[in-house]
Order: sequence, then C-alpha cells, then structure tokens
Amino acid sequence: MRTYYPKSSIKMTSDVMFVLAYILFVICAVHPPAEVVSAGFTISSLFEKLLGNENVDFIQFHIRRTTLTLLIYSLLPLLFVLGLNTFVTEETQSVFILIDNHPTIYLILSTVALMLPLLALVQIYNYKLNWAAHPVVQTLKKFSNDNTTWEQIATDINNEYRRVEKICIKTSPITTVIATENWIIKVLPLNLFIAHQSDASLTVEQTDTHAFSHDHAGVVQYITIKVTSNRVETFKLRLKALDFQDLQDRVARSINILPEVKFHKSIIEQFTDVFKDAIKDNVRYEPMQDVDICIGCMQNKSDIKLQKYCEDTPSTGEGRAANCTSCYCKPMWCVDCLASWFVHRQDASKSETWLSSKCTCPTCRATFCVLDVCPIEFQSEPTDPENH
Ligand SMILES: [Zn+2]
Ligand SMILES: [Zn+2]
Ligand SMILES: [Zn+2]
Repeated sequence: MRTYYPKSSIKMTSDVMFVLAYILFVICAVHPPAEVVSAGFTISSLFEKLLGNENVDFIQFHIRRTTLTLLIYSLLPLLFVLGLNTFVTEETQSVFILIDNHPTIYLILSTVALMLPLLALVQIYNYKLNWAAHPVVQTLKKFSNDNTTWEQIATDINNEYRRVEKICIKTSPITTVIATENWIIKVLPLNLFIAHQSDASLTVEQTDTHAFSHDHAGVVQYITIKVTSNRVETFKLRLKALDFQDLQDRVARSINILPEVKFHKSIIEQFTDVFKDAIKDNVRYEPMQDVDICIGCMQNKSDIKLQKYCEDTPSTGEGRAANCTSCYCKPMWCVDCLASWFVHRQDASKSETWLSSKCTCPTCRATFCVLDVCPIEFQSEPTDPENH
C-alpha cells in the first residue's frame, strides 16, 4: 500500500527552509553549542565593544551583557514574524496554509512579537534611568552594610575578579561558576547569582553519572551543589566532579557532602583496584635490605619489585612478539604509582585490554606485564614502636 503525502508537506520550499534556519538560529542564540561558543558567536564576543571588558569591570560588564541579552531574546519572535512575511507566499504552500487556516494564531503571534521588544525597551529605559532596578544591582544591595552603595560592593567584586587566584569553571555553554576570595558567582544569560562566602553554606546534594559527554570520553560524573545564604536566594551549581576539587580548594568554607552522595571512582582509580587485585597472588619478593620510599609519590614505601615470571610467547612473525624482559632495578615504586604509570601507557580507548597489556619499567624500560609485578614481603617486619 502506498502512503499518500500531500505535495507541499515534503517539499523543501523557502518557508520550510526559513523555519529550519530560524530554529537553528534560536538554538545558537539561546543555548549555543560548544562549537559555536568557541567560534566566537556569542553575545559577549559579538558585542565586545559595547559591553566593555569583563576583567576590568566585571559587574558593570554583566549588567550591560544581561540587559543586551534581554533585548536580543525579546527580538527573536519578531524576527520569526518578519521572516514569515518575507518567505511565506502563496507559492510556498506549507507554512502559508497553516497561517491561512489559523489567522487568529498569526494575529496573536504578531502582537506578542511586537509587544516583547517594546516591553524590553521600556525595561531597559527604566534601568538607564535608575540602575538600582536591575536584578544584579538588587542582589548586590542585599550585601550592603550601613551605607555601602552597590557601586562599592561592585568595586570589591571587580577587584577580586581581576586577581589570578579566582577560578572560573564553565559548567555549560551558557553558565559559568566563579569563585573569588570572598564571593561565589553563577553567571547566567539574564542574571547573576551572587553569594558571599562568609554566610553561604555549600552542600553537595546529588551526583549523576553519564556514560558520555560531548567533550569527554568515558564516564563523567556531575555534582550538584546547593548554595544557601540568609541574604540571597538559594541557587544551585552543577559541575563536573573533576572541577569540584578546584572549587573546594578555592572556597574558604568547607563544602558539606550529604551522606547519601557517592562519588564515582575515575576509570584510573577503578583500574588501580583491579591491578592491585591482579598482583595479589603473584610471586612475593623478599628484599635483602630495607626498601626506599616510592620515587613516584615520595610518600608510600616501595612495595613492589618487577621480576620476569611470565612465560615467553613464541614470535608470530607479525610485528614483535613483545616478550617481557628482566628488570634489575631495586624496588623504587609503590603499587599505586606503578598502576597509574601502567594505565597511562595504555590505549585509552581499549580499557578492556589494559590488564593483559605490557608496559615498560619506569626506570630501566624493561618490558613487564601484570604477572611480573611482585609484591614485597618482608621476612620479619622490623619492630617499629610506633606501629602496632
Ligand atoms: Zn608511589
Ligand atoms: Zn627496571
Ligand atoms: Zn611479563
């Protein structure tokens, strides 16, 4: 049976092209993909001259940027209606039929499209008369003690933002989390959430793990931190678990982690566990003299020795059958550092072959495999009064 498609519904007429291009444009304007951001097609970079320098006047820059963003967003429906008038004709059937059949919808759409930029302009005019009406200024005023003006608070934030110790974490193409010496700021397209660290409490509320992320291969964990303060409204920060450490190092307060929150182990940590488990039953090595501290971490005592115990595999002719070779180095590494060295020399995309692969000794470059990693066993543990 053949399905009948009306001719107009599948034709790529100019109006259909316009609707598709418009949708793409709105996505790029409202939630630009990372590629568009890195190509510089963002409001901040396109209107750089008008907005000024974020590094010099952080707060003023964002007041201007959020105001301009409001105006641009308000123009989007008008652009759609103007486009419809240009590209939709009687010949370019598909969208025309829709409009023709529902004139009221078109009328409402046009009215709203005209009203939104007008309202935005009125609002911007109000801001221009009195910046105190702007949401960012409203937030700043909540931090005012005695007679401090919002401009003074803005200057403090601007000064701290200029310092190198601040951290900026881009948590999505449109959101940035900034932590300066005293402030935590979440930058959004139309507003800034600001909290002073002195009275803010940060709690890791939940974590979510994703198998893929557009800029990161493998498993990525995101954590959600709730920032509560009695002066400003509560807001949430969602960032990658890898960035969490940076934030924790920057903020003066400790970040509470709810007991039910479990941090996902990185693939390297998971491999280290598997590696330790795999060498557990290997041949022991009994050192003649006391062993040194691991030269990798300078913390743990060296607890493994590389000794070839695996069987050679006959050369297959195709490439070198890389048989393991003897390592004569004295124990110099702890198992954690060796596991990390081992995994960093494997093909990142083939984690299933890591354990059966070979690697070279970090010191002498002798080839070894997991079977050749011998845990150190001390004949009689020297009695250490501090250890019990
Ligand atoms: Zn170590
Ligand atoms: Zn060696
Ligand atoms: Zn081997």
